[in-house]
Amino acid sequence: MEILIHPRELTQRWIDKAVELDIKRVSLHPVGGMDAHSTLVGMLNEIEKPEFKEKIDTLIGRGIEIGYEFHAASYLLPRELFDTHPEYFRMDEKGQRTTWGNFCFSNQEALDIMAENAVKLIEKLYRSPDEYYIWLDDAKNLFCHCENCKKLSFADHQLNFCNHLARTIRRVKPRAKICYIAYFEAVDIPKVYTPEEGVFLEYAPYERYTEKDSFSFEGDYLELVGNLVKFFGKEDAKVLEYWYDNSIPYRYAGNKLVEFTPDNKQIKADYDFYRGLGFKTLATFACNLDDDYVALFGEPDLSALKED
Ligand SMILES: [Zn+2]
Repeated sequence: MEILIHPRELTQRWIDKAVELDIKRVSLHPVGGMDAHSTLVGMLNEIEKPEFKEKIDTLIGRGIEIGYEFHAASYLLPRELFDTHPEYFRMDEKGQRTTWGNFCFSNQEALDIMAENAVKLIEKLYRSPDEYYIWLDDAKNLFCHCENCKKLSFADHQLNFCNHLARTIRRVKPRAKICYIAYFEAVDIPKVYTPEEGVFLEYAPYERYTEKDSFSFEGDYLELVGNLVKFFGKEDAKVLEYWYDNSIPYRYAGNKLVEFTPDNKQIKADYDFYRGLGFKTLATFACNLDDDYVALFGEPDLSALKED
């Protein structure tokens, strides 16, 4: 099991808990949303500091890996480039180029700049494994509506982006792997591109937690998840769940910490379900269950995090 927490939440308590619960990796996840490029910069600044590096060293010293997973399109293609190169940027539904999220997926120069910036970015990820989670921006409807981009699906554009990152990063790190996150519109199977060497699936079933009633996997959706695993291959397939994500209730409550009760029965049933489909790695967000939470509500029940 792997968990994702916000960078500031990495304290001695989470390190001890991770050991106790046999967590394989703790990944730092800067707060998402349309400001994710700024929270990413915040994390990069933090992990530069000796005292933060020391925390990471402690974690690794206790047998747990450090990881990093974040939204980065607006970071990789600096928005300041709009003044000189509006064609690098996304066209909205009205035909206007905009800096609001992502980029023009079919602009090769933009892709090249982003891949080169990704190479520089991964150098900053202190003691990261050669497995990179560099996601597009964090909102729906961030599609580019230009004539070229319209020819392909969002999933195809995202896979092309991942392939390009993989090719570029593997020139300096030959064993690097790049995640394709099946999330929002990218949950569909790409039709034109196929994953190149090093690209693997991370499936994040966010829709389960935004529907009125948490849906169960059946019918078309079950088929889709199975097909995603088949398309990308089982070898490195990973699911990124929200079993312990207290940041969703936090947002719904108007940025207020609320008491969290995990659905242990469902979580255990999900383990079997995902394993049955061939997923090799299980991960979950565990944000907003930090020291502040414990001060207000006491220790949350984390028992189901320990896989059988
Ligand atoms: Zn475009």
